[in-house]
Amino acid sequence: MIRFLPVLFLSLAAASAAPKPAPATPAPAPPAPAAATPAPPPATALPATALPADASAPPPAGMPKSTFSQCHVEGPYVAMTFDDGPHGANTPRLLEMLRQRKIHATFFLVGQCVAEFPDIVKKIVADGHEIANHSWSHPQLSTMSEATVRDQLQKTHDAIIAACGVTPTIMRPPYGAFTARQRAWAHGEWGYKCILWDVDPLDWKVRNSEHVKTEILKQTVPGSIILSHDIHKTTVDAMPETLDALLAKGFKFVTVSELIAMDKPVAPKPKATPAPKTDASETAKAEPAATPVPAAKPKP
Ligand SMILES: [Zn+2]
Repeated sequence: MIRFLPVLFLSLAAASAAPKPAPATPAPAPPAPAAATPAPPPATALPATALPADASAPPPAGMPKSTFSQCHVEGPYVAMTFDDGPHGANTPRLLEMLRQRKIHATFFLVGQCVAEFPDIVKKIVADGHEIANHSWSHPQLSTMSEATVRDQLQKTHDAIIAACGVTPTIMRPPYGAFTARQRAWAHGEWGYKCILWDVDPLDWKVRNSEHVKTEILKQTVPGSIILSHDIHKTTVDAMPETLDALLAKGFKFVTVSELIAMDKPVAPKPKATPAPKTDASETAKAEPAATPVPAAKPKP
């Protein structure tokens, strides 16, 4: 299954990154993935009013936009995000780095880690960061039944509230894998906005602090949502220099919800535009299964 993920996500990315077809020349449907098996139908029907598959496409009239991979803002604002924790050693270390720089970030928490480290969750909130739902055990939700997805999100939702009293309003599906129907459904069920990313340093794969820093600095632009993982020591080790360099370039850090609140609709571009940078970066939108959360983790 793991080796199919790149194929699956290349296909998903191709679908989501495809330019909008001109009215007279509709784009052909993207080819079906050769290796990936189609997602089974959900156990129960999802609402028929699904959002378009293109995460960047405007929602249907009357529906609020609920999926973001970056924002369009006036000003040098970016959101730093940390996934898969909290981690017993690396997250407290990171919190100190953020506190020293008066930076607020967003933490996409895995439910079973929340249950293991509720005191760290309290500390994240006490320091002014945003917390969000990243599923209970980090599965690929896009191929699971509605009942299982509901269980993954509800258990985490409840664990976060139990740990710190804050109700999360945003979520990020592991590997970025969440169908348009699921996004619309989760928005209806929990009011969740689905948060993806436009900056991916591949820190889950390349465990090298210099690489993490270089990629983040190279890819970040105003409105960026920066993906990283505070469960990896190399990522946290990269943060002092990365954050200082971003600050030196004039970037200002806000939480994801703050960034979304600043989001402005993009004016339609005249004529054909060159393929945006996201065409390439979208292909990296999978967080491949290199960082699964083990069912039972030893205490650090
Ligand atoms: Zn993750």
